[in-house]
Parts: sequence; C-alpha cells; structure tokens
Amino acid sequence: MADHDLVIIGGGPAGLTAGLYAARANMKAILFEAKDIGGELLNTDLIEDYPGYESITGRELAEKMGAHATKFGLKIQPYSPVKKISSDGDWKVITMEDGTTHRAHAVIVTVGGEPIKLGVPGEEEFHGRGVSYCAVCDGAFFKGEDLAVIGGGDSAFQEGLFLTRFARKLSLVHRRTDFRAQAILQDRLLGMEQVTAITPATVKEIGGDTQVRWMDVERNGSIERISVGGVFVFIGFKPVGRHLFDEHIDHDENGYLLTDQYMRTNIPGVYACGDTRAQLAKQVTTAVGDATTAVLHAERYIEELKHMRRSFPEATSEVLEREVERMTVKRYLAGQTIIREGDPADSFMIMTKGAASVRQNGPNGEREVSTIKPGDFFGEIGLLSGTPRNATIRATAPSEVLVLDAAGFRDLIENSTETKQRVQTSMEERLAKVGGKTGS
Ligand SMILES: Cc1cc2nc3c(=O)[nH]c(=O)nc-3n(C[C@H](O)[C@H](O)[C@H](O)COP(=O)(O)OP(=O)(O)OC[C@H]3O[C@@H](n4cnc5c(N)ncnc54)[C@H](O)[C@@H]3O)c2cc1C
Repeated sequence: MADHDLVIIGGGPAGLTAGLYAARANMKAILFEAKDIGGELLNTDLIEDYPGYESITGRELAEKMGAHATKFGLKIQPYSPVKKISSDGDWKVITMEDGTTHRAHAVIVTVGGEPIKLGVPGEEEFHGRGVSYCAVCDGAFFKGEDLAVIGGGDSAFQEGLFLTRFARKLSLVHRRTDFRAQAILQDRLLGMEQVTAITPATVKEIGGDTQVRWMDVERNGSIERISVGGVFVFIGFKPVGRHLFDEHIDHDENGYLLTDQYMRTNIPGVYACGDTRAQLAKQVTTAVGDATTAVLHAERYIEELKHMRRSFPEATSEVLEREVERMTVKRYLAGQTIIREGDPADSFMIMTKGAASVRQNGPNGEREVSTIKPGDFFGEIGLLSGTPRNATIRATAPSEVLVLDAAGFRDLIENSTETKQRVQTSMEERLAKVGGKTGS
C-alpha cells in the first residue's frame, strides 16, 4: 500500500487543476485517471468560453492542462480506474480496479459523469454501430449520411454543429418546443440549411441491420419513421462520484455530490469538484475554480490533521477529524500578541510554525517565563480552570497557530482520558513554571 498526502481521482479539467495546484504546493499527490487524461474535453470539438482562448479544441486544451500539471511535477497515472474509496481511521483508502490500494490523508473526487441513455429499444444493441454519445469521437465515421441529434441543451447544439461537417441532413429531435441551449448556438445550428428541428418529439425505437438505418419518433401522437445512419444522444448527464463510496456520502436527488463552499463533502478529508458536484453550471471554468478551492483547503486540512495527530496520538481518528474541521488558522508577525494576560480564555492553540515567548507581569514588569515552539500547545490553563489568561504570549518570529474553540477543546479531552491526562499534566508543569497563577 502506497501512502500519499492527496489522491486526485479523475483527470478532466477539475482533476488536472487540482493536480497543478497540489504539485505547485509540493504536496505528495497522485492523480488516477481511468482513461486518457482530459475528461470531457476529449469529447468536445471547440471550446469558445474558456477565458484566454477565444477558440480552442477540447483536445488541445486537455493537452495543455496535462502538460502544465506535469511540468510542475504532478504524478499522473492514466488508465488506472479507481474502484472504491473507504475510510480507515483518518486515512482514506483508495482501492483500484486491479486490486492495489493507496492511502491518503485527503481525496479530491473529480470523476464527472456519464451520458444519460434514451432507454429505448435498439439503443443498446446499436451502441457503437450508429448510436453514439460523442460526436467528436464518432462523427467522422458518418460522412455524407443523414444523422440525428437528440436533445435540446448546449451539448446537443455544440455536437450538432460539429456533425454538420459530415451530415447530409441533420434532424434535431427534442421533446419540447423550446430549446435550453444558448441563443448563439441555437442561431448557428438552426440557421443551417441541412438542419431540421423535430419538436416536440420523442424517440421510440432505433433499428437497422448491421448498422442503424432508422429511428421511430413520436410527434403529436403519431409515429414517424425517419431514415438515419447515426443517432447522437445528448439528453443529459449522470454523475458517478457517489458510486465510489460504500459509506454514506451526501448527494442530491440526481446523485450529484453535495459540498460546502470549500468543496468539502460530509466525509472529512473528501472533496468533490467539477461535474460530479451539485452546482448550477457544468463548465470548464467552474471545474477549475472548484478544484482550486478544494486543493487550498485540502492542503490546510492535511497540515492540521498531521499536527493534531502528532500532538494527540491517543485521540481517536473521529475526534481528530472532527476537531480539524472546527479549527481555524491564525498567523502572527514577530512582536504580535497571540494571547493577552487577563483576557477571557476562549480557545486552545497549537503552534505549527514560528516561535513565541510566554510572558508574565510581575513587580519588575513583564518577564519571559517560558517559550513556545512548533508542536507545542497552549491556552489550556484558562479553559480547564475557568479563569482568565494568566500570561501574555507574543510571537517572536512570524508564526502560525491552529485555534480550537472551547467546545472543540472539551470534545477533544472528554473523548480520551489519555489526552485529558496529558493536557492536565502540561497545565501543572506550566503552572509550576509560572508560579501557580492559573489562566493561560
Ligand atoms: C459535448 C460537450 C461539450 C462541452 N462543451 C463545453 C464548452 O464549450 N465549454 C465548457 O466550459 N464546458 C463544456 N463542456 C463541459 C465540460 O467539458 C465539463 O464541465 C468539464 O469537462 C468537467 O470537468 P471535470 O473534470 O469535472 O469532469 P470530466 O471532464 O468529466 O472528467 C472526469 C474524469 O474522471 C475520470 N474518471 C471517472 N471515473 C473514474 C474512476 N473511477 N477512476 C479514475 N478516473 C475516473 C473520467 O475518465 C474523466 O476523465 C462540454 C461537455 C460536453 C460533453
């Protein structure tokens, strides 16, 4: 079993962006992709709404994203489908289709989804023999034939436009009279001579011999048989992320994973981005935005988890994960006060970077009574004794501390007698050093 900080599942725009940021942050990360990298970009002809590129083919954008992430050192493993994600304490275990396993502190799921099928007779039988879900992949096989596109959204129109390069005639079949596609796409496609819209209509059956030859369409209560050599279906999309989990992961009624604004799912350490996540727009821009947020949060989560694990090795993984979710990070410049003597004690802290001086007021003014270095925790005295802070703690170098509120602190110590004992011992040692005053 190989250990990583972060495993990214899926190599589309979201996964490659997550990988780029993780590699630039020097994280020990790996990306697993079931097929070739690029995701849906590989099935897209032209992208004309990705800022910076007025028009770029999906394949070219995929290649650029892959090369960019690789340049910064991301480990990418194509043709490596992930079968399952499970939890083992605060580790996530990733089981591959080939049976091998990996462990990671955090996982970013960017597995997109798959096309929704029509579910009519002939569709499955002729899949690959005239029924297709990807014009860019298969369109060129149908040069000079009469083709049909099923659907009324952006994908149907974009794919339809691509197919007009090959189709003699193109029928656009949609179950409603109005189309959902952007107006610019509608104007372009419906303005073409070889295109006929068949609405409101539904496909009832697809048939042929060795290849698709016809489809039956129901319109206004009667069935029409239309001669076609290829039927291209773009009626929607089914996210696949939740199927990777045995344990419950929150999703909406259509199966899209639910996250908060940091792309966190309900499982600590598991993030979801891009098309597999519940959101308004399934676009390249949103996929890359999601991924940026997820990695930045995951990086912090992993650091905090490692610090907590080092500081409280006896605490259960559930408690550690729970407290990490509650924690905030605070940064201080050298000279800034972290805790002030006399202030109410409302939080517990762990120093992750920097250094600080613990100071107390005495008859001869303020004096240093001890120092704090990375890995040390402080602030427990006031919380345990219910008194104000008994010392001032001032950063002596640029410092970073993890801050846990009083409720989180109680949760931490009440769930482990060893932790409680250790925090209490530390308090007693500190009190002995500072002359018995309680509070910090
Ligand atoms: C025809 C078409 C045209 C489009 N046109 C545009 C456009 O013009 N502009 C735009 O912004 N967006 C467009 N989109 C949408 C855009 O492509 C998606 O929003 C974007 O690709 C989502 O990125 P993603 O990384 O979330 O998912 P995807 O691109 O779907 O990538 C998911 C990846 O995860 C992999 N995967 C799945 N399961 C596993 C597993 N178990 N293990 C490992 N890997 C796995 C898949 O193989 C895939 O490579 C279009 C989409 C389609 C279908």
